[in-house]
Amino acid sequence: MKYLTEQIVFQEIPTEISLAFEITNCPRRCPGCHTPELQCDCGEVLTIQKFDQICEKYTSYDGKYLFGCVLFLGGEQHQELTDFLEYCHKKGFKTALYTGANSVDLSVLKNLDYVKLGEYNEALGALGQPTTNQVLFQVYRIK
Ligand code: SF4
Repeated sequence: MKYLTEQIVFQEIPTEISLAFEITNCPRRCPGCHTPELQCDCGEVLTIQKFDQICEKYTSYDGKYLFGCVLFLGGEQHQELTDFLEYCHKKGFKTALYTGANSVDLSVLKNLDYVKLGEYNEALGALGQPTTNQVLFQVYRIK
């Protein structure tokens, strides 16, 4: 699983400060794609070691993380995503996924706190547009 960028974001998950990774190799070919560079097989391989290094970049002077949620922008097609989601939970972070799919596998869903579902439709606009077809869900696990 490769990523192109990582950054702290405030709006994508409205109640969270999130560390967001843009995952490449997007298999979808949405007409009017808003981020076409994510369709390429490019970027850097995201390993657990690399992930830890990036997390350490976003800490305060007293060592506390500046974010509480890790957001993957894509990546549901990669087996490793589940491993990363589990690892995030072990580290005490919430997890979120933005996918253009209309559903995700249970193995992914059960490790998520938030998920944005729905293909990108240029005519309807992205999440945040009143006409959008995409929906952001908060996931509650009873057990
Ligand atoms: S899912 Fe997103 S990145 Fe992938 S093709 Fe569609 S708009 Fe582009």
